[in-house]
Amino acid sequence: MSEHHEMIRVEKLNKSFGDLHVLKDVDLTVKESDVVVLVGASGSGKSTLLRCLNFLEIKNDGKIFIDGEQIEKETHDLNKIRERVGMVFQHFNLFPHKTVIENVIEAPTQVKGLKKAQALEEGKELLDKVGLGDKYDVYPSTLSGGQKQRVAIARALAMKPDVMLFDEPTSALDPELVGEVLATMKELALEGMTMVVVTHEMGFAREVGDWVFYMHDGKIVEYGHPNDLFDNPKEERTKAFLSSIL
Ligand code: ADP
Ligand code: MG
Repeated sequence: MSEHHEMIRVEKLNKSFGDLHVLKDVDLTVKESDVVVLVGASGSGKSTLLRCLNFLEIKNDGKIFIDGEQIEKETHDLNKIRERVGMVFQHFNLFPHKTVIENVIEAPTQVKGLKKAQALEEGKELLDKVGLGDKYDVYPSTLSGGQKQRVAIARALAMKPDVMLFDEPTSALDPELVGEVLATMKELALEGMTMVVVTHEMGFAREVGDWVFYMHDGKIVEYGHPNDLFDNPKEERTKAFLSSIL
C-alpha cells in the first residue's frame, strides 16, 4: 500500500470541551484504501477524534489534512468537507418518517442537487449492494438493527465519500446481527474504501484492519499492524487494555 497517498493526516490535534482536555497531540495518518481501527477504553477520545475528522467538532489546535489539503473552518466550507468524509454512528440516526430509499437519496438530492431519478437509481444500487434490495419502500421501524445499520452505510455511501468513518457501528446490535454489518464493512474495505473504524470487534480488526491504533486518555499510545499490536504490544498500557478485553 506504500504507493498510496495520504487520505487523512492529523498533526498534533488538540481538542478540549471547556476545561476538559480530550485530545492531546494526536497524530494519525491514513493512506488511501487503508482500514485503520481505533481501539481504547470508553472516554479515551475515540468518538471525539472521529468527529474532528469530519468537522462535527472543531479542533482547538493542530492540523487536519484531507487528501493532501489542510482544512480550516475559516477557509473551507465544512459542509463540502463532510460530503467527502462519510460517517456511520452507533445509533444509525435514520430519518424515521422517511422510507429506506428516501433516507438514502435525501442528502444527494438536497445537499448535492442530484436529480431525483439519478439519486433513486444510485440509491437502489447501493441498497442492493448492502443486501437490502427488497426493502426500498419500508420504514426504518420495520427493520432489524443490522438492517438499519446497513441502510445507514448505504446512505453515507450515496454521497460518494473519499473516506468512511465508523463509530462503534455494531455496539448497539444484538449479537446475532453484528456479523452482517461487519460483512458489509469488509466488502467495502475489499473494494478499496479508506476507512477509520472505532470498534471492539477484535476479529474484524485482525482480519480487515491494516493498522490498529490504541488510544488512552486522549493520546495515541501505540499503533501497529493488527497481529503485531495484539500479539506483541510494546507498551504496558496497551498490554493492560488488551488483557482486559481479549
Ligand atoms: P470515547 O468515544 O473513546 O468513549 P469520547 O470522545 O466520546 O470518548 O469522550 C472523551 C471525553 O470527552 C469524555 O470524557 C467525554 O465525557 C468528553 N466529551 C465528549 N463529547 C463532549 C461534549 N460534547 N462536551 C463535553 N464533554 C464531552
Ligand atoms: Mg465513543
